[in-house]
Amino acid sequence: MEAGICTGQTDAHIEYRVLRDHTGDKRPVGLQPQVWSAFDNMRRSAADAGVDLLIASGFRDFDRQLSIWNGKADGSRPLFDHAGMRLDVAQLSDVEVCDAILRWSALPGASRHHWGTDLDVYDGNSIEADYALQLSPDEYAPGGPFHSLSNWLAEHAARFDFARPYQFDTGGIAPEPWHISYLPIADVLQKELTLPVLVHCLDRADVKLSDTVLSRLDTIFERFINVATSSAGDEMLARS
Ligand SMILES: [Zn+2]
Repeated sequence: MEAGICTGQTDAHIEYRVLRDHTGDKRPVGLQPQVWSAFDNMRRSAADAGVDLLIASGFRDFDRQLSIWNGKADGSRPLFDHAGMRLDVAQLSDVEVCDAILRWSALPGASRHHWGTDLDVYDGNSIEADYALQLSPDEYAPGGPFHSLSNWLAEHAARFDFARPYQFDTGGIAPEPWHISYLPIADVLQKELTLPVLVHCLDRADVKLSDTVLSRLDTIFERFINVATSSAGDEMLARS
């Protein structure tokens, strides 16, 4: 695949569509054309089950992820601890700030949203138009508005070649039951995103805390980036 895709340097692989969200607002969402086809099929199937599969976020480029990262690093965006409590950047070491950001946000160049294969989904049928979407695990847990969507994904997503790479908490990235990934292409891009490729990409950008990041990149790569994406978890749930 074209260089730069796995680190978000280009959107040449992306097809944008203008979609409405649950509030009725329209905004552009980007995915790879093959991912759109698979998503369209999955969306139709979900609709038959009463689920209105909407996209909260699709493609994000490197610069967008960089502004999220730098905003959290300098305190202009809120930073949270493992339990979701607000942290004060000024009270933390650089390593602590890095780990707190990585719990909730990807390092620029290492977001699966760069690939055009990954998207965050929710169910428009289970909320009102004035609902403030949070994308929090509670919303997808029993009693939450998107629990039935979560069950539907567990049972059916694999049939459309989608899986949830951040479904379970393995101590790195916080669980993201809303995040789905189109594996036939994502698995290829994940192999292209090697440590040297990421170092090269970070070296050329103005990333806050870059000294801390680069000195710990081996650890960060294993814990937060090189995650297994097998859909085995969902298949297991579907069987149970
Ligand atoms: Zn996501």
